[in-house]
Amino acid sequence: MTVQRVGVVGAGTMGTGIAQVFARTGHAVILCDLEAAILDRAFGNIRRNLERELGKGKITAAEQAETFERITTASDRSRLQECDFVVEAASEKLEIKSELFRDLDSICRPEVVLASNTSSISITKLAAVTRRPEKVIGMHFFNPVPVMKLVELVRGLATSEEAANLARELAMKLGKTPVEVEDAPGFVSNRVLMPLLNEAMFAVMEGVATPTAIDEVFKLGMNHPMGPLALADLIGLDVCLDIMRVLQSGLGDPKYRPCPLLVKMVDAGRLGRKSGRGFYQY
Ligand code: NAD
Repeated sequence: MTVQRVGVVGAGTMGTGIAQVFARTGHAVILCDLEAAILDRAFGNIRRNLERELGKGKITAAEQAETFERITTASDRSRLQECDFVVEAASEKLEIKSELFRDLDSICRPEVVLASNTSSISITKLAAVTRRPEKVIGMHFFNPVPVMKLVELVRGLATSEEAANLARELAMKLGKTPVEVEDAPGFVSNRVLMPLLNEAMFAVMEGVATPTAIDEVFKLGMNHPMGPLALADLIGLDVCLDIMRVLQSGLGDPKYRPCPLLVKMVDAGRLGRKSGRGFYQY
């Protein structure tokens, strides 16, 4: 099947980036979220990103205009019936994603593949709420989407070869490199990354070092482009907490206990860059 029109559900940090890269590579995009105000903000972010790319000479003025024109927004999910492929990038909560997949299954044509950008939730579980489990796959992009090359492709228990082939081809068309992994809590990326970030938070909580000192250790000693606490702020502390909880419940090992300081910061609304304050102030 040729994918011409792509639906992106959730217009936050990730959905905005995903919509942008699909539009940039010639796809018509319908970007969907709960409210017009969220969609307006997402549209503004895409506009600014494209202006920045134009400023850096990465795209021409014509490409900027064409990319922008390919994106439409909708708070009414039924508009997704026009789409040939859907990527869900809504909040990292099983109840939200289950409800969405059940609904997307009834809205979209039966042949349409439904992908989730989840960081940690079981693709097998999301697939099981639909009548098309063989057409559900994980397509895990990385932040910032226009820059990061990796897409972790996650096969659920029932995911078909055809669905995996289509997602792989699409990822490559977006200029990304797909890496295939099996469905397990946190997949590979967050199974390994999140405990590192969580441990860095324990070090802050126990007064071992300041966030700046910890990040310096990783930048200068391990050649990481960004330290673990700056990265946690970029990802969003609420997203980090949700992922730790998925690892904790899915793998059952106490080593995945979320750091109490992380829980406290999320309770206080200090979510990192998106709220203006996390381990750093923005
Ligand atoms: P975010 O909080 O920035 O955005 C989530 C968006 O989903 C919000 O705009 C919210 O209004 C919307 N939403 C919630 N319920 C909805 C519904 N029923 N229908 C439509 N929209 C709905 O979160 P994010 O950081 O963009 O994360 C989105 C997904 O991407 C999560 O599954 C997350 O785990 C995953 N992810 C995040 C990162 C990251 O670095 N932030 C990286 C890779 C994957």
